[in-house]
Amino acid sequence: MKATVMHSAGDVRIEDVPDARLVEPTDALIRVTRACICGSDLWPYKNMEPTEGGRPMGHEAIGVVEEVGAEVRTVKVGEVVVMPFAFSDGTCLFCEDGLQTECVHGGFFGSPEVGGAQAEALRIPQADGTLYPLPVEADDALMPGLLTLSDVLGTGHHAAVIAGVGPGKKVAVVGDGAVGLCGVIAAKRLGAEQIVILGRHEDRTDLAREFGATDVVAERGEEGVERVRALTDGFGAHSVLECVGLDQSTRTAIEIARPGGAVGRVGVPQSEPMPGGQASFYDNVTVGGGPAPVRAYIEELLPDILDGTIEPGRVFDRTVDLEGVPDGYRAMDEREALKVMVEP
Ligand SMILES: [Zn+2]
Repeated sequence: MKATVMHSAGDVRIEDVPDARLVEPTDALIRVTRACICGSDLWPYKNMEPTEGGRPMGHEAIGVVEEVGAEVRTVKVGEVVVMPFAFSDGTCLFCEDGLQTECVHGGFFGSPEVGGAQAEALRIPQADGTLYPLPVEADDALMPGLLTLSDVLGTGHHAAVIAGVGPGKKVAVVGDGAVGLCGVIAAKRLGAEQIVILGRHEDRTDLAREFGATDVVAERGEEGVERVRALTDGFGAHSVLECVGLDQSTRTAIEIARPGGAVGRVGVPQSEPMPGGQASFYDNVTVGGGPAPVRAYIEELLPDILDGTIEPGRVFDRTVDLEGVPDGYRAMDEREALKVMVEP
């Protein structure tokens, strides 16, 4: 079968690899009908060291179940399913707490062990706990929106939940990528009174306004911090969603939180020490977050996509087939495309 393999920074290839197959009795096999390229795929695209054999890419997909292992109980052949970016058994103590990304039998897609979703097919470990059946056909017009349940919508929602977004709250979203835009959707959905987005790509901040952002701040660093404070009674936001992961964006996120506020981090951190430690201490700012348990959020978010209340599928602005994936990486890396959907 054909699959996407990254060999080193900037070197993404479509290759013939051994067919995905069942390995464990708890596995399922899906034929991928929709996948996409993630902002987090751009980190290795920028700085991956060359590796032997390369790394299979992709962790977001919708597919049709082709085969299930002997111990799979709930997932059925022929079902249209969405996969979260992490697999999980659905039964351990962390899964029961709704933290499937910490599952004791879990792991992440897009590794040599499990394979990647930017491919014709994919093995799904812990199929019963991982896959979520969708009540639509594989060619439904809502596919782009449903595909965001794999990662970006649930990730933006997680940032909002961790940051304590709710009715009457002043919210700031750092980052105008697909996750930041989904963070705006989530904040609006959870009843935020004001939503400030920090970003400098006008087409993206325009979309953010359509999703519910009330203010746009294009400035960065200290200037950006001052602008957000000025927009929020001089004190900063109650809830801040950090959707980038760079040092500067993390520092900004902490500095624009008001005393007693909270920051939900979902941008993959690009360095070990956390910036803004003193600012968070002296302002009693709670900082939390991590890999979003998107599997836990599908049930809550799916109905709003099905009835059109939210339209997260609008973050996709380009569609490619598998052969077009390498150029999709280039386009996202050069900020020519916001988020690229793949139809294998
Ligand atoms: Zn678990």
